[in-house]
Amino acid sequence: MDNVCVFDGHNDSVLFMVDYEPTGRDFLARSEEGHLDLPRALEGHLAGGLFAMSTHPEREPEDDLTITSNGYEVRYADALEPAHARRQIDGQLSAIKGLIKRSNGRIRLATSVKDIKAAQIEAAFALVLHMEGAEAIEPDLEYLDTLYDAGLRSLGIVWSRPNIFGYGVPFAYPRSPDTGPGLTDLGKNLVKRCNDLGIMIDVSHLNERGFWDVAALSTAPLVATHACAHAVCPSTRNLTDRQLDAIRDTDGVIGLNLAVNDIRPDGHLDDDTSLDVVVRHIEYLVSRMGADKVALGSDFDGAVMPRQIKDASGLPRLIEAMRKGGFDELALRKFAFDNWLRVFGLTWADGRIAVSRQS
Ligand SMILES: [Zn+2]
Repeated sequence: MDNVCVFDGHNDSVLFMVDYEPTGRDFLARSEEGHLDLPRALEGHLAGGLFAMSTHPEREPEDDLTITSNGYEVRYADALEPAHARRQIDGQLSAIKGLIKRSNGRIRLATSVKDIKAAQIEAAFALVLHMEGAEAIEPDLEYLDTLYDAGLRSLGIVWSRPNIFGYGVPFAYPRSPDTGPGLTDLGKNLVKRCNDLGIMIDVSHLNERGFWDVAALSTAPLVATHACAHAVCPSTRNLTDRQLDAIRDTDGVIGLNLAVNDIRPDGHLDDDTSLDVVVRHIEYLVSRMGADKVALGSDFDGAVMPRQIKDASGLPRLIEAMRKGGFDELALRKFAFDNWLRVFGLTWADGRIAVSRQS
């Protein structure tokens, strides 16, 4: 069987890049820790991905998880200070630049579809900059322009906490993602500015009303870089059928989140989650949205993976399970790579066409 080349819609590996020191975990060296580094990417035929910069509190809160009779609830995270967020994002940006420099051409910052294709041909790994949560951006949106100039091409308006632009969805199971108010006026301005710059807007972690505010305003295809189907696993992080339909109808894409607690119908945080369960989840999304609208958004280094995939080097086992499940080679290539590139082409400034949307 031919190797299927993969592009991934989401990982949190930037968080360990920031702590880089020559004796520690290095993205350029194979590790058994976490899920992603360059050697494991190459073993898994992973050609590139969206790398998420993100902001975190000085100290992560403890005891914020409550197990309920049929699921769980996580205490809603507090908002973060913009200045604190800016320092973290600046640090992450320089860590990424440092990594690219140390890679001697093996990793490239990609800001266009052309860059990703060129990297693929020349066997370099394509890193696309994403930011998960817009805390570091202030109301004047100037920092968004700075980030765009630094290569940012994808933005999640919120993580699962509130900020000045909107309200992230709290983690809970089973529960509707309709958990609170939608975007603020500043959030609506941010959507427009992203459209103008050709920055992809990621609806992952938004609550349902925020999702519909983006859908009403944005002129680009709707994209969830890492999420799953609420009809299969009713966690707040997953998207309802109506939301999936809206993504489909704008020629957008959902990146399948491999987080076991969002894949499994029972929502359990259990890595003993078979590839059959993963493939059945993909089948649901494809039956609802079509093979052109479903891709991968692994959440490597940010979630618990199914044991049989384990890390980026295990991606060929997922592809093989899909093949055994009846996906043909064309459908596999769309899921693994082509769907992301189509949506980037429609969204990023160069090849962008306006999508008319009257709903
Ligand atoms: Zn996330």
